[in-house]
Amino acid sequence: MIVAGVDIGGTNIEVGIVDSDHRVVDRAKASTPTDGPDSVVATIVELIESLRETPAAVGVGVPGVVHHGEVLTVPNLSGWTDQIDLGPTLEDHLGVPVVLGNDVNMGLLGEWIAGVAHDVANVLGVWMGTGIGGALILDGRPFNGSRGAAGEIGHVIVRPGGALCSCGRRGCVEAYAGRRSMAATAAAMVDAGRHTALFSIRDAEGKARLTSKVWARALEESDELAGQLFDMAIETLGIGVASAVNLIDIELVVIGGGLAEKLGQPLADRIEKAAEPWMLRPNPELAWVPAALGDDSGVVGAASLARAMVILT
Ligand SMILES: [Zn+2]
Repeated sequence: MIVAGVDIGGTNIEVGIVDSDHRVVDRAKASTPTDGPDSVVATIVELIESLRETPAAVGVGVPGVVHHGEVLTVPNLSGWTDQIDLGPTLEDHLGVPVVLGNDVNMGLLGEWIAGVAHDVANVLGVWMGTGIGGALILDGRPFNGSRGAAGEIGHVIVRPGGALCSCGRRGCVEAYAGRRSMAATAAAMVDAGRHTALFSIRDAEGKARLTSKVWARALEESDELAGQLFDMAIETLGIGVASAVNLIDIELVVIGGGLAEKLGQPLADRIEKAAEPWMLRPNPELAWVPAALGDDSGVVGAASLARAMVILT
């Protein structure tokens, strides 16, 4: 059966045809429109129709809270002020069944089905991007919580009254370890007289923002401010993840997102080391690994949900 997965990101929308061995066999991508859901729908339809084969069903990962197929909030997409019925609207345009889920849940699902978390019963996914996303596999199945909002490791509080987070509260992991927050702190430090190569690397790479690639290059060049902000990000992530491990006793932590793709196992090792002092009962079997499917994990996870929907209905 031919199914397609869609990963709506803050920067790009990626779509792929995924075969029954969970391999992406055809793909297309476009910049994420910033003028609202109607343009996002139009872009997804265009991308799907550009693929060589017509899928029997489509799964879509949305960067927001999705519950019972309904998109509740989409905080990280600009222009998404009107609520639309995304699933039915896409079904009308595409003429095939569409299933929705949270983008990080889809990413971890992809890793669980065909990647580094294959067949592991208890997994925490930590996705490092513009924000810090999280997802859970518990007792051998995806765990979404009572309202679809489980796994939000980025909004675990590690410093009460600390740095302002994009969610409006203070002291969340994301306020220290999310790329958007790190960029804002870097800019404020430059205003205060600190030097860093981050912004000149950004310009040299032709990027509009401090992307994962920009951070990776600054770290490689031993930029002092980038190193300090990154140390802080790892330290707070370590505290947050250790608290999650204390609570749910998982056996695998998967680090995903752009930074994991650029930095790989050394990044997972650093987070492990930062978490150790905060663990109640350190588990020697607990493994820390970067996601294996890279950018494809979201597309593969979304497609697998589409496949399951067709089989079950
Ligand atoms: Zn927050």
